[in-house]
Amino acid sequence: MRRRFINLRIPAGGSETGPAELLVEDGRFVAVEAPGSAATESAEETIDLGGRLVLPGVIDGHVHFDDPGFTHRENFETGTRAAAAGGVTCIVDMPCTSLPPVTSRANLQAKLAVIEPKARVDFLLWGGASENALEDPDWRRNLEDIAAEGVGSIKVYMLSGMDTFRDLGRDQLTEILRETARLGVPVGVHAEDRDMVHALTTRLQAEGREDPLDYAASRPPEAEISAVRTMCELAVETGARVHIVHLATGRALDVLTEFREDGAAVSAETCPQYLAFTDEDLCSLGALLKTAPVVKSAADRDRLWEGLAAGELAYVATDHAAGQWPEEKHTGSIWTDYGGVPLVELSLPYLLSEGVAKGRITLERLTEITASAPARFFGVERRKGRIAPGLDADLVVLDEDETWTVRPDDLHNLNRYSPFDGRSFRGRVRATYVRGEPVYVRADDGTETFGAAGYGRRVRRETPVS
Ligand SMILES: [Zn+2]
Repeated sequence: MRRRFINLRIPAGGSETGPAELLVEDGRFVAVEAPGSAATESAEETIDLGGRLVLPGVIDGHVHFDDPGFTHRENFETGTRAAAAGGVTCIVDMPCTSLPPVTSRANLQAKLAVIEPKARVDFLLWGGASENALEDPDWRRNLEDIAAEGVGSIKVYMLSGMDTFRDLGRDQLTEILRETARLGVPVGVHAEDRDMVHALTTRLQAEGREDPLDYAASRPPEAEISAVRTMCELAVETGARVHIVHLATGRALDVLTEFREDGAAVSAETCPQYLAFTDEDLCSLGALLKTAPVVKSAADRDRLWEGLAAGELAYVATDHAAGQWPEEKHTGSIWTDYGGVPLVELSLPYLLSEGVAKGRITLERLTEITASAPARFFGVERRKGRIAPGLDADLVVLDEDETWTVRPDDLHNLNRYSPFDGRSFRGRVRATYVRGEPVYVRADDGTETFGAAGYGRRVRRETPVS
């Protein structure tokens, strides 16, 4: 079936927009034209978008949907429902917060069997390598198998809080990086210095300190700076493609940029929480804002915005991770409260409002950091990430000027809490289309409709990482 989208605007360089019509057939764009073009006239169905702004659907490269295994926190049905409501048309799910972790082909297939019937938007999987996985003498073959299955990237931790997915020392990381370099698949690293954080945590806990800022003191900027430096050195030494996930510290970005300018194959993402909040907010919000890495200073936050605008940071992902609410977020101690914030639904509205509307980034840069850059990193740039003929018709339709206030009860993931509670954003998702079909529509009266669970398809890495 040929479906035509008319009366809409798309980005046209900088923060400009221009009128367009889109023709979609079999889930892909076949024409992106000026209004009134003959090419779009052959459509059997026409959807009038009322002059609204249309952007490429968001690819959130870092979510924890916890399925199967930790479904009291999130599951694939609720996670992808929230994604659809946030303009996210493809998510990339982490390998470490589901059971069994995605460290072998059998584990990957077990996970797919559970999540495929629940997915409302398209998805890739992260594979992983942990100390647990390295205990299997066949770990190299397992890594090769999951790379052949088309995982987007391989996740490793320099510091992990999970018994089911333990962190790795420098020698183990070196071995893994040599393998991934050979396989042509990138590695995503949680980069914080294990020894430094363990020593500080032990000391602060022994002193009986319980304040949110004591938790922050256990994971100082230096822990991230030194770990990022180590990973950059290992990237150079092994030839592996290394990506730092959830970068939070300004000076860690300085280190990364230095190495990249010297030719190292390194990149980083940051997350809305590090762009929006500082240690002062952690003081007032406590566990609601507890994440690892932890939010840093106002100077760090400003440095991240600068790096995002300048292209030093490759893209924005959310690290969406929900704890059971309220049980796991209010345990009586900041040390045991679950770390993680559900954000998949709020990232695009946040970046539109605080990034584009406030002039920190252009609309064009927004589409790069939310869609085209993650598509390239995960090797799906021939299918996703842009509004262009031949690519999947993944779209988000926006009410650009609508101002609205975040209320956790209005979110769509399983455990509804947010450090953004009460914050107002300018720009709101009106509808989301995956492969030309609506997966989310918000009507004039606020009524919301969702596409079917199971519509979302698994996507595989198609091209080697650059
Ligand atoms: Zn994460």
